[in-house]
Amino acid sequence: MGTFPYKNARRNKIVPPNGEKKLLLHSCCAPCAGEMMEAMVESGIHLTVFFYNPNIHPVREYEIRKNENIRYCQKLGIPFVDADYDVDRWFARAKGLEWEPERGARCTLCFDMRFERTALYAHEHAFSLWATSLGISRWKNMEQINASGHRAGRAYPNVSYWDFNWRKGGGSARMYEIAKREQFYQQEYCGCVYSLRDTNRWRAQSGRQRIAIGKNFYDETPPRPSPQKPQMELPNGPKGC
Ligand code: SF4
Repeated sequence: MGTFPYKNARRNKIVPPNGEKKLLLHSCCAPCAGEMMEAMVESGIHLTVFFYNPNIHPVREYEIRKNENIRYCQKLGIPFVDADYDVDRWFARAKGLEWEPERGARCTLCFDMRFERTALYAHEHAFSLWATSLGISRWKNMEQINASGHRAGRAYPNVSYWDFNWRKGGGSARMYEIAKREQFYQQEYCGCVYSLRDTNRWRAQSGRQRIAIGKNFYDETPPRPSPQKPQMELPNGPKGC
């Protein structure tokens, strides 16, 4: 079995269920998807990246996250599907859940909406297997994501959701290493306007600066706090997505 080292972390070759060689990957952002994309290419899996994230607000943040993902797809030669930014439909579904905490009911509907669309695309374009990058982030509840994934997948008998634990087997460590190597944009909040509001509130209470959209990028030099450059929310990771 091949291993794919990168500095301190290794990933064993990934073997999809039923010997599948083709996969549709719902991507939330380049930092989360990057490790999975690289590991799949190295494992001989023919993947297509599907970017459907109408939750991301504002549109400037959405475009930055999307373009970072396109940049890495082009580097690895992976097809990229740019799905709708149907943000009005997202807000309609989230109505009444504006004050839900992260990992609560609003996040369940957010995952459901994104995965329903991914499963539909898989069904319509002859992908029998799909996965998401959302579960690799330790900010997320993997059980919540997998429940949404299986719910969406059940709508199409010819399509299966792959609930592989991408954090294990070196995945989490490689995710950060690759994000730094590629100098990906580092988002500082999950994505929706409510997570932006709540993160800024928390920052204000902690005496920290507000989120500055489009400012932070990963790099391989250790971060040094300075009055001009706000410290990262965590020393080694994105604020989910
Ligand atoms: S906090 Fe994140 S997962 Fe939850 S609803 Fe907002 S964007 Fe979606």
